[in-house]
Amino acid sequence: MMQVAEKFLSRVRRDEPMSRHTSWHAGGAADIYFTPQDRDDLRAFLGTVPEGMPIHFIGLGSNLLVRDGGIRGVVVATQEALLKLERVDATTVYSEAGVACARIARQCIQWQLGGAEFFAGIPGTLGGALAMNAGAWGGETWRHVLEVDVLDRRGARHTRKPAEYQIGYRSVKGPDNEWFIGAQLEFERAPGVSTDAIRDLLDKRRETQPIGEWSCGSVFTNPPGDHAARLIESAGLKGFRIGDASVSEKHANFIINHGNARAADVEALIEQVRRTVAQVHGIELATEVRIVGAPA
Ligand SMILES: Cc1cc2nc3c(=O)[nH]c(=O)nc-3n(C[C@H](O)[C@H](O)[C@H](O)COP(=O)(O)OP(=O)(O)OC[C@H]3O[C@@H](n4cnc5c(N)ncnc54)[C@H](O)[C@@H]3O)c2cc1C
Repeated sequence: MMQVAEKFLSRVRRDEPMSRHTSWHAGGAADIYFTPQDRDDLRAFLGTVPEGMPIHFIGLGSNLLVRDGGIRGVVVATQEALLKLERVDATTVYSEAGVACARIARQCIQWQLGGAEFFAGIPGTLGGALAMNAGAWGGETWRHVLEVDVLDRRGARHTRKPAEYQIGYRSVKGPDNEWFIGAQLEFERAPGVSTDAIRDLLDKRRETQPIGEWSCGSVFTNPPGDHAARLIESAGLKGFRIGDASVSEKHANFIINHGNARAADVEALIEQVRRTVAQVHGIELATEVRIVGAPA
């Protein structure tokens, strides 16, 4: 177990239930849960984490299944820190990693910048969107990235260009053991753009997705040329339930926690859906959701 230096103690919680920090409201406890004051505090803290101790960054936990045995090592929470969002020049914005994507969407409209509307549909932070290459309605995070700021495990900062990453559909591969603390993003000038654009998109989403229920959005990525939701629905899995977790009746690529699902129920359901779709359609679905931690 890590000895936490006195000066960080007020920002550290031990055995913190991750069910409080994930949109599925499920999962075990993190050994150490650290909310930095700002990026200097974060850099100093990372410098004290023993070599070999796992480090996880978390934003709003909207794409994360934490197993019931919890997370060994350190979880760094960005969403109450790293909140700076500012305009750099006519079309460039700097956002820290803890900023909610929806705030970027709204602020860009105030700045009369277009192209950020898709962020309104992503209930996570910019850090999570960078890690996932989150996207919606034809928009995608990395199409707007000019450069990112990252920290390594010693707390040293580096600035990197998109060319240093392999970017794909909901997939970003870069140097190991580095985490995003901010990014310069580019949008277009869009005089006259208004929040109506966002409202229409969100209305459309509410018609097709179980918004407001405990989920992680899409559980699986879409296989080439098809939709995971279509495959799951036509395999007869809508409403299929394990414990308090079920495949949504409204959108088959969503799994809902009805209140008391354990992470093990959700994971068993994910595996059951994957197996059934493979049997029925011969297609192996890949998870979009990140599964971390130890089994109970
Ligand atoms: C109702 C609903 C609708 C959704 N709709 C969409 C959608 O339309 N499109 C879409 O793409 N996604 C969607 N999602 C999924 C999710 O919102 C996105 O993947 C989002 O980008 C995750 O951000 P987060 O801050 O919650 O990340 P988390 O869930 O906290 O983390 C996700 C991953 O990112 C990593 N990570 C987080 N912060 C950092 C950081 N600073 N540096 C490095 N790694 C980091 C974590 O370690 C983890 O591996 C939806 C989710 C819900 C619940």
